[in-house]
Amino acid sequence: FTTDASSKKQNSVGYKGHSMLAPFTAGWQSADLDPLIIAKSEGSYVYDIHGKKYLDSLAGLWCTALGGNEPRLVSAAVSQLNTLPFYHSFWNFTTKPSLDLAKELLDMFTANKMTKAFFTNSGSEANDTQVKLVWYYNNALGRPEKKKNYRKKHIYFQVIFHRYHGSTLVSASLSGIPGMHQKFDLPAPFMLYTDCPHYWRYHLPGESEEEFSTRLAKNLEDLIIKEGPETIGAFIAEPLMGAGGVIPPPATYFEKVQAVVKKYDILFIADEVICAFGRLGTMFGCDKYNIKPDLVSFAKALSSAYVPIGAVLMSQEVSDVIYSQSNKIGIFAHGFTYSGHPVSCAVAIEALKIYKERNIPEHVDRVASRFQDGLKAFSSSPIVGEIRGTGLILATEFTENKSPNEPFPPEWGVGEYFAAECQKHGMIVRVAGDAIMMCPPLIISPEEIDELISIYGKALKATE
Ligand code: PLP
Repeated sequence: FTTDASSKKQNSVGYKGHSMLAPFTAGWQSADLDPLIIAKSEGSYVYDIHGKKYLDSLAGLWCTALGGNEPRLVSAAVSQLNTLPFYHSFWNFTTKPSLDLAKELLDMFTANKMTKAFFTNSGSEANDTQVKLVWYYNNALGRPEKKKNYRKKHIYFQVIFHRYHGSTLVSASLSGIPGMHQKFDLPAPFMLYTDCPHYWRYHLPGESEEEFSTRLAKNLEDLIIKEGPETIGAFIAEPLMGAGGVIPPPATYFEKVQAVVKKYDILFIADEVICAFGRLGTMFGCDKYNIKPDLVSFAKALSSAYVPIGAVLMSQEVSDVIYSQSNKIGIFAHGFTYSGHPVSCAVAIEALKIYKERNIPEHVDRVASRFQDGLKAFSSSPIVGEIRGTGLILATEFTENKSPNEPFPPEWGVGEYFAAECQKHGMIVRVAGDAIMMCPPLIISPEEIDELISIYGKALKATE
């Protein structure tokens, strides 16, 4: 295999070796970088600068839920830009779109009673905000030791290995991805990592999914006891792990893990940045897995990615403490110039309206079996280890002998080769090592799903 046909050879006239430091690239690539330049989008498709059309099986970066040209989102942005392009929401100032969006999000999220929203520009900032909220909350409760003092190098957070929660200093530390820590002197010294709940990869011989979940919950509890429950402030998890490999939780996992964190008075943060607004066939990932979080993070599909915005929701319990104590311990001194940006909020309000009016979660539920079953039918391929997913999110992992313990030699670049073949046939997929991931726009039609499956089949045949 070679990797030549993939993202490095795009004939991007005039831009080869361009001057942008592209996220998640290495220097050797930059010198040689020849990116695929996307110029236009339409429904589930994007077009490059040469006019070649691609089915966008990743919805941008897991985010353009309503596809590439939803006119209502464009109108919402234009109309807000024409009225009030910006005013801030600091102190005792705000704008109507930010107030309306806060109310709408709180009304829509019913897995737990949430009473306050805080706005950010991204999922990373939402998760950074979560950490500060948890610290502030425990300080407000007069138990600063519940997250201890990071200068004493104690542990504050329970984080799941392999999981992606963002790129800022804190959210990269929340991410359990070693490649994001090395050379950045991360993780920050207040994180602790627990097992990745990937049954296929990590279960013991003869262990059922339920037993696997029981073992992971027990490991978590043992760790909490060893570290001292009084030193652990929160546990963060995505309902379904997205960028960390599309890993649906094993049966009974959240039931057991939630019982453990509750027992030790540890807050549960649900990172809904990928799962929210229908991705799994329910409005929120928490609905699908019966998660009752204290704090929730959103971004991506919140505006269908048309403008940057993220959000945090707080439960009544958390916000009551913050509100009742802030007069005593000092203001919640945290916020961004663009927290509650009126244009972003106006677009997000329209996106939420569309999710509800068109019943997007039900559409996902309806087409999910076509997508999942159609792709999982390739599981018998000799180079496929596992095809996993639910709703409109799925990953394929290529391995030798169908074993999680026998990866192909990295220099073969099997995942890259598969992705390049897809691209050749007009489809973009996300490749990470020998895993490829798909997360198409939520509006994808049954016919487009058939096309996606057909290209996948051709790419697989060529890769075999
Ligand atoms: N949380 C999850 C689950 C994500 O998938 C991501 C991004 O992929 C983030 C947080 C970070 O979001 P952003 O890239 O908007 O900072």
